[in-house]
Amino acid sequence: MIIVIKPNTPRDQIDEVIAEVSKLGYDPRAIFGTNQTVIAAIGDEQTHHTLTSLMAMPQVEQVMPVQKRYKLVSRESHKQSSVVNVDGVEIGGSKFVMMAGPCSVESEEQLLTTARAVKKAGATILRGGAYKPRTSPYEFQGLGKEGLRLLQVAKKETGLKIITEVLSEYDVEHVAAAADILQIGARNTQNFRLLIECAKTGKPIMLKRGLSERIDEWLLAAEYILSHGNPNVLLCERGIRTFETYTRNTLDLAAVAIAKKESHLPVIVDPSQGCGRADLVSVLCRGAVAMGADGLLIEVHPNPAEALSDGAQQVDFNSFGELMTDLSKFLKANDRSL
Ligand code: PEP
Ligand code: MN
Repeated sequence: MIIVIKPNTPRDQIDEVIAEVSKLGYDPRAIFGTNQTVIAAIGDEQTHHTLTSLMAMPQVEQVMPVQKRYKLVSRESHKQSSVVNVDGVEIGGSKFVMMAGPCSVESEEQLLTTARAVKKAGATILRGGAYKPRTSPYEFQGLGKEGLRLLQVAKKETGLKIITEVLSEYDVEHVAAAADILQIGARNTQNFRLLIECAKTGKPIMLKRGLSERIDEWLLAAEYILSHGNPNVLLCERGIRTFETYTRNTLDLAAVAIAKKESHLPVIVDPSQGCGRADLVSVLCRGAVAMGADGLLIEVHPNPAEALSDGAQQVDFNSFGELMTDLSKFLKANDRSL
């Protein structure tokens, strides 16, 4: 930590700060300038008391942390990119992973036809929400346990692995029994109790970035999962809320590059929630590959016009097939393969 003292502070008041730094367990080293003094506080910021409380002293101008607050997720702590093994499907290595399926599980026919179509096109993981976080309580809330059962039926028939959202701590046990990856949605990214309960299952967890979440907050949310003993975390950029109205959210592709630099965890991009428009999904996929993402999560529906949720952003089977063909050139150019 670096503590900056206000200009022209008398020596006795500087000494007060130095004494407080020692008291809080750090080794203080003061650098006295002509007008201004800076105190370097040596110590492990991860285990010691945070010195930001020193801002309460009137002679302190600023307290700046030197260490990153996230430790286990950082590339500093783990140079190699992590590979998360989802029951035999590796995510984060040279292979690129496609997760696709409907926004919501609506019926057996809807789910099974979609599962077959996305598998044929090259997906290895089936998405489908059984518990849906809807803005309005009057909108379709998902089929719940019946949705989980249908996901199991689709898995049995196709061999696709399953990713589905856990909305609440109450659902962790039965969602974990049906899913290969637990999805934590954008509205729950900082629901720390939920993160801890999901971590305890030991299952791979895909952590979406929150609607208005900074990258450091997103990484700190992932840190909750790793620090509770579960290293199998996938980060997912799914667009953030901005002033723009042409798209539902602003897909932050720079965040993908930053997350890859800052962290060793695999990064997935969700262009469907990321823009909210089916016509943009394919080009955003190209962008995600170019930025170094390790996989994509795409909403696919047999007939998007009839979808019970997120119809405007779901692509149909034809468009998904075309998207996959288009993407293969971009994957090759980036030394990735399906
Ligand atoms: C979804 O994947 O359908 C979803 C609800 O995602 P998010 O949490 O990113 O809004
Ligand atoms: Mn959706």
